[in-house]
Amino acid sequence: MEYVKLDIKKQKKIALVAHDNMKKRLLKWIKANKDILKQHVLYGTGTTAGLIEDHIGLKVEAFKSGPMGGDQQLGAKISEGDIDLMIFFWDPLEAQPHDPDVKALLRIAVLYDIPVANNQATADFILTSPFMNKEYKRHIIDQNNLMNERKEYFLNI
Ligand code: PGA
Repeated sequence: MEYVKLDIKKQKKIALVAHDNMKKRLLKWIKANKDILKQHVLYGTGTTAGLIEDHIGLKVEAFKSGPMGGDQQLGAKISEGDIDLMIFFWDPLEAQPHDPDVKALLRIAVLYDIPVANNQATADFILTSPFMNKEYKRHIIDQNNLMNERKEYFLNI
């Protein structure tokens, strides 16, 4: 498999998402890390983004609410190279109506090699990583190469 490299710049485009039972926890974590987070560009699913703006005063570009398609919008942004890092506190104890979207979002995040924190400890590790203050090259499967290989296969049937 061939890979291409894509830059994560020093200033990161960070997605912030929390399921309802996890929202208080995420807000508390964001409040504690406000000084770091305000140096970056923030995005979030609708309700989460609104809560962060109202309670903490950080500017967050809002997508639709998660159950209304916000997770899918976020996945699309990741596939377009427009999100560098995701903090997603999903609920490990309760099923969600949009669980298929959540699964799709997590898959896209892995595919596009972005750092993802699904809990507070990982979020702390990411935020204190030296890569938060410098560029990083992530590795993405070269889709042109992949498509050409597949086209070649089907042309030879
Ligand atoms: P919300 O969506 O921020 O609109 O609550 C989050 C989610 O459930 O994925």
